[in-house]
Amino acid sequence: MIAENVKKTLAEIAGGNPFGEKVTLVAATKTRTADEINEAIRAGIADIGENKVQEFTEKFDAVIGARRHFIGHLQTNKVKYLIGKTYLIHSLDRYELADEIEKRAAKADWTADCLIEINIGSELSKSGFSLEEGADAYQKLRRYPHIRIKGLMAMLPLSDDEAMLKELCRKMRALYDSLRREDADIEHLSMGMSGDWKLCVENGSNMIRLGTSLFGPRIYPQTL
Ligand SMILES: *Cc1c(COP(=O)(O)O)cnc(C)c1O
Repeated sequence: MIAENVKKTLAEIAGGNPFGEKVTLVAATKTRTADEINEAIRAGIADIGENKVQEFTEKFDAVIGARRHFIGHLQTNKVKYLIGKTYLIHSLDRYELADEIEKRAAKADWTADCLIEINIGSELSKSGFSLEEGADAYQKLRRYPHIRIKGLMAMLPLSDDEAMLKELCRKMRALYDSLRREDADIEHLSMGMSGDWKLCVENGSNMIRLGTSLFGPRIYPQTL
């Protein structure tokens, strides 16, 4: 089932987005076993994303291949476990986190590729810079010597209001385009989950993070 879902989704995004860009599929692997993740990789997944450092670390060696993304909220005291191990951190959402990544990455003589997280729906439950802060945050964050800003990440609010969601995508795309015009390192707009990825890709996303639609519903252990 996982392999079928992966192949079907890869075929659906094979044509890229309307902006002529390739769409990268990141499998969101929280709560999934290494066996399930390896099955997805054998079916064609090249990028996987965890949203908890503990899971990222526990499965790191058991998962074979694939570029490792970190997509969840990152506590500063856990940054040290990711140094040298991530292809991309999607959740750079505050300066305090950038300070810690800078300190740890410098010590390891490594550069962390990161996306700036934008709280596009201005939701209290989500972190990130506001859309209005985005350009200024980019100017400040790009000055950290061991952080390379590669683009933007956002999570759309849960809503059936397609017009509103499209408008939020368009705003994200406009910010992304404005950064990209002056910085060739900017190449990822990470936006889209199982419920909304088609709308996101149609409206400018070039990186989607899918969990449920690849692996089925998540079952969280009681203790979490
Ligand atoms: C879990 C998760 C996803 C995937 O969510 P689904 O709805 O299962 O596709 C995407 N992005 C982040 C940051 C996540 O934590």
